[in-house]
Amino acid sequence: MSKFWSDFVVGLEPYVPGEQPANINLTKLNTNENPYPPSPAVMQAMENAVNDDLRLYPPSNADQLKQTLADYFQLTPEQVFVGNGSDEVLAHVFNGLFRQAQPILYPDISYSFYPVYCGLYDIEFSQIPLADDYSLDLEGYRRANGGIIFPNPNAPTGRLLGLDAIEALLQDNRDSVVVVDEAYIDFAEAGSSAVSLIDQYDNLLVVQTMSKSRSLAGMRIGYAMGSKILIEGLERIKNSFNSYPLGHVQLAAAIASFNDPDYFATMRERVISSREWIVEQLKVLGFDVLPSAANFVLARHSDENGLALTQSLRDKNIIIRHFNKPRLSQFLRITVGTPEQNQQLIDALGEIIG
Ligand SMILES: *Cc1c(COP(=O)(O)O)cnc(C)c1O
Repeated sequence: MSKFWSDFVVGLEPYVPGEQPANINLTKLNTNENPYPPSPAVMQAMENAVNDDLRLYPPSNADQLKQTLADYFQLTPEQVFVGNGSDEVLAHVFNGLFRQAQPILYPDISYSFYPVYCGLYDIEFSQIPLADDYSLDLEGYRRANGGIIFPNPNAPTGRLLGLDAIEALLQDNRDSVVVVDEAYIDFAEAGSSAVSLIDQYDNLLVVQTMSKSRSLAGMRIGYAMGSKILIEGLERIKNSFNSYPLGHVQLAAAIASFNDPDYFATMRERVISSREWIVEQLKVLGFDVLPSAANFVLARHSDENGLALTQSLRDKNIIIRHFNKPRLSQFLRITVGTPEQNQQLIDALGEIIG
């Protein structure tokens, strides 16, 4: 603490990201990154973007990227917002759309950045408990609110909420904004995204990221899609904060990724089939695994302590994520890696459990 800090800064509780260890010999299955590199076309596009034009500011409205996203998702560019990672997009959402008279609602077990943004922007919230099977309890959202947000698939459970349920939620909450944080949606069955509902519901905002399914966590690119009026609100916030959240190289990478659908599809299928393999293997070892539509699984073992297992894996140079929180402390959250990494994980768990 410093005498130079305002009382507000003293009171902040910042987000604590998963560890990014310097030791490259670790098998890193802790932050839901993609185990595969970005597409070669993306690498080439980034290389090409490193040129004399870097002395110029990037296009502040990212028109070409918005057009690319609009074409991909069958929307108009006015229905698309882009930002420096979806975390930044989410920050603008909380600041611009969630500072309302009523508290916002989100699940008690979900992305731990949401309460941080509530603290940063002084937003009241109510956490709605997940059902006993860790699925979203829709009844809990039938009450006055200043907005609703949840990840779908949820993090860190991996559970997917179906489009019918999302549509019911939208209908029940016509007067508040419903944000679906689809950081992991590309690992779910095709057709699971709420993007298809945007033209029918002007209160729906869908947020996605290029960090997970597109292997670009290091480039910091996120985007939101929704009605023109929601996007305009976000643009007002963004242009009151930082007009140039994406640089030339980021823009080039993002556009190139969407222009290489084959690579994307291949990597996506690899991750999904590895996820299914891990689930089977964990079950053989006696784990109870929540159904996952993401690139990670949440699993617990009735005879083993979650924290102790995490530490034993660490001793074997494998890092996963453990949450020391009610209803989560018994679980391990394991990111899907390459087949080799996944085999190491299963072998290590087999040795530990014996
Ligand atoms: C990873 C993640 C994000 C943030 O992604 P970035 O685009 O890398 O900032 C947002 N929401 C959820 C649920 C995530 O897991």
